[in-house]
Order: sequence, then C-alpha cells, then structure tokens
Amino acid sequence: MTQWTSRAGLVVGAALSLVVCAPPEPAPDFDVAHETERLLIGVEFEPPLCQGSLALLDDQLATLERRFARSPPHKLHALLYDRPAEICGGIRGGVPACYVSGVAHGEWELMSHELVHAYLHALNPRPVPLLDEGFAVALDGRVTQVYDDVALAPLLTRGYEDIDAREYLAAGHFVAWLARELGDEAVFELLLQADRDMDADELASLAEALLGAPLSALEAEYHAHALDLSPGAGAFACAGGQAIEWRGAPIELTPALTCDDAGTLLRLGDGPSQGWRRYTVELPAGDYALRVDGARGALQRCLDRPADLSTLESTPAPALADWGERWDSALYHHGFSADADAITPGAAEQLSLPAGTYTLWIGRELDDDHDVEVPPRLSLAPL
Ligand SMILES: [Zn+2]
Repeated sequence: MTQWTSRAGLVVGAALSLVVCAPPEPAPDFDVAHETERLLIGVEFEPPLCQGSLALLDDQLATLERRFARSPPHKLHALLYDRPAEICGGIRGGVPACYVSGVAHGEWELMSHELVHAYLHALNPRPVPLLDEGFAVALDGRVTQVYDDVALAPLLTRGYEDIDAREYLAAGHFVAWLARELGDEAVFELLLQADRDMDADELASLAEALLGAPLSALEAEYHAHALDLSPGAGAFACAGGQAIEWRGAPIELTPALTCDDAGTLLRLGDGPSQGWRRYTVELPAGDYALRVDGARGALQRCLDRPADLSTLESTPAPALADWGERWDSALYHHGFSADADAITPGAAEQLSLPAGTYTLWIGRELDDDHDVEVPPRLSLAPL
C-alpha cells in the first residue's frame, strides 16, 4: 500500500515538474484572427477566412500528425496574405511564401507547403535544408516528379539559399520515394535527427544508421528504378474534399458556397473573392457530360499511384490532369487555381474519361449580386 502511495507521489511529482519545466507557449507577434485546434492564424486582408479554408489548414497538420505519429508541443503560427508576403521578398531573390522565425507566411494556397515546414521545425528547430524542403514538397499536395540530372546526396550540406527550385522539387520526389521504400518511420527519424550543423560525414553516418544503407547507394537505386511521378500527399492533395459515390446515374451538386459552410474554401483574387468546394468521385471509363450553371467548375484527374509519364493516358481539357510539369503552375499544389481551364457557366462539356479518381470543383464569386437568379449547380452525367 505504501509502495503504491509513494509511486503515486512520484508520478504526481513528475507531472508537476513537467508542468514547471515545460517551455512557455510562444506568443505570436501578430493579432490572432482565428484559432483552430492546431493553429493560431493572423490575416493581412479584409474578408474573413471561410470555414472550409480554416478547417483545411488544420487538417493539413492533423494529416501529418497521424502519418508521422508526432505532434508539435504547441499551436503553430501562420500569417496569411492576399498577395506575396513581403517578408519573403529577400529570400532567394524573392519567393511568395516562407517560414521565418516560427511563422508560416504566405497566401492561403501556399500554406499547404509552409505548414509542413512549421510542423517539422516545431519538432526539430534546425533541420537539414534539403530534407526540410524535400519533406515540404512531398507533403504539400502536389504531384512530384523525378529530375534525373539532379544529384541529391551532395546537396545535403547546402544552406537554403544555395538550393534552387529544381533541386528542392527533386528532393520532394526523392523523399516521397524513400518513405515508400523504407517506411515513414525511418525517414521521419532522419528528418528529426539530422541537424544542419552536422558535416557531410556525420550526416552520412546518421543516414546510414537510420535508413540501413548509405544515402548515396539509396540515391543510385532511386535513379535506376523510381517511376517519374509520385502522387501528392497531405490534406491539400487531389482526391480530398467530400467523397461522392458514383452509381452510374447523374450527379447534381448545388452547394450553398457561403463562407459559413464547413466545406467552402475562400479564394482571393484581383476581383471579388470566390467560394469553392471540392468533391471526389471514382469514375469508370466512359463518356460523360459535365455542365455548370451559375458558377465555374473543373474536373481534375488525380494521380493515385506512382507512374511513368509515358504510360499515363491523357485527359481532355478541361478535365485537368494532376500530374506533370505542364500542370505545375495551373494546379499549384492542389488544383485550387482552376481559372485557366475552368468550365464557363452555362457550357456543357462532353468528355471521354479513362477510369480513375476525379475531383470536381465548383466555385463562384461570393458577392452574388449577378448570379442570384441562377443557383450554382454542377452536374455530371453518363452519356
Ligand atoms: Zn519550402
């Protein structure tokens, strides 16, 4: 009995000292406009963020926590803009978004990437830049692509300023391949333990100990065998949004697209703000009619497994394919920037589609003065 009491006392003592010794929760240096389970968010623009936008930011972190079984010790900080973030203008000749001094800065669309940095830095404040960028690219939602001319192992000791855009995109595909081949646990342990102050030998030893083979040997195997493309990962990746079951009958979607709606994503542009929603559906091969009224729409085909570019079936515009360099700018990270190939209201598209996973997008201006007469509607029907 005494033993139990003293054990209980020890447990209480340990818990108390943990509380006393825990580092203070860092306070953001911006006004907090929104708070989610995992984030404190400031905004540098007028319209409020839509509920779906907030939920997706949080979901990006929840997805990382589930996949890598680690949670940051405190809420992460993000400051959102409706333009490229000025604070990032001095980085690598000027980038639109960045993670600086504990804060993810940028437009909402770019947070899928910056929040991966925020997540990793909360667990390892001094990650190796190449691995940090590769991890962020691999998890920010975009399809990643091999760059056969980029040798990655020699870049491990480079600083952020000395890694160019091609090199960090290449690192994203390599990190995705490593995680698939060796498992998330080993690769994430390397991300946590590798410190940017380590020299080349220290990094090589650590990587070999954690991954079971020298990184240079793994990279040689990667260049010999990896397929060209890896599917995007994370909450922003294609195939997110509300799932719809295809039963062979026409689908009709008539979302409210109000900002209070839990699924509505806000898109800020030069004109009025837009509300968008996304749905995901598995379609068999066939001919379809896609029509939108009172809104704009897009159909995006998802890459759901690694593939070589030469074996992919092409899809007709405006059914966008979420892969390959061609779409990299139009579908930056997650297909939310569907402007270029969006279907115009009132138009019906007839599409011959290969079997696959598709994301349907429907969006309209939030100031709905001129489209009240026609409620937004997207329909997809077999022909
Ligand atoms: Zn980055």
